[in-house]
Amino acid sequence: MGLESIPRAVRRQVRDRAGDRCEYCQHPASYSCAPFVCEHVRPRTLGSGNTIEELAWACPACNGHKYDKTRSRDPETGRMVPLFHPRRQRWRRHFAWRADLLRIEGRTATGRATVLALHLNAPALINLRLALRQVGAHPPEVR
Ligand SMILES: [Zn+2]
Repeated sequence: MGLESIPRAVRRQVRDRAGDRCEYCQHPASYSCAPFVCEHVRPRTLGSGNTIEELAWACPACNGHKYDKTRSRDPETGRMVPLFHPRRQRWRRHFAWRADLLRIEGRTATGRATVLALHLNAPALINLRLALRQVGAHPPEVR
């Protein structure tokens, strides 16, 4: 059953694998006052379990915006497309930093839909990236 709580050792593995950064917006947990969550990439209601292959490390904002969504609209084509799946897809293939390093750009339909649905360029995130850039903590190295 996927509704049991996630064992602490699994949570730790998921966090460490992600470098303790949100796997969507790339924000580092070390600069967040709200705790990050171990989220089910596919919602538990669709049968997802608690193995590390089904889990991702996410900031509370991305987790809240994502909720139980698996698809969203690509703003360029208007089509419904799958949201970014951090276990099956690579961040760098679907997203890129704009030249100012403050905004994330979708490189694919999935990337564009995810930027919009998860508010990856929310004003507060842009402010945080600017502040982090000034202390040399941004941009992160992303696989
Ligand atoms: Zn995030």
